[in-house]
Amino acid sequence: MTGKLKTRVNSSGYRQFYDEREGRWVFTHRRVAEKQLGREPLPGEEVHHINGDKQDNRSRNLVTLKDSIHDRIHQEDPDACFRCGRSGHWAADCHATSDFEGNDLDLDEDDFDDEWDDDEWDDDDEDDF
Ligand SMILES: [Zn+2]
Ligand SMILES: [Zn+2]
Repeated sequence: MTGKLKTRVNSSGYRQFYDEREGRWVFTHRRVAEKQLGREPLPGEEVHHINGDKQDNRSRNLVTLKDSIHDRIHQEDPDACFRCGRSGHWAADCHATSDFEGNDLDLDEDDFDDEWDDDEWDDDDEDDF
């Protein structure tokens, strides 16, 4: 281990680094997104550079989007909601249950698990009292 990362910018203007362990060039933004998600971006998902700078791979500049929403952001409305793809609000304010094409949005099951745990804790406290 030298700890020195080999990097390059590919012909499309994206940063890559050489993954010694895998023996291949890897897109830096995809690796950052992988850390954010805790999994690899899936086929049908696109890692988007929020400020439009393809070489700015800071975590806060990257978001993983469905292909259809990503296309809409690039082709129709750069300020469209990252979550549902509609115009006029941000993902943080989004309460949509379907995306702009009418597909159901997946609910985040982890959030529901957290709420369950909290409820159970509260019940235990009351019993002990
Ligand atoms: Zn993009
Ligand atoms: Zn939305």
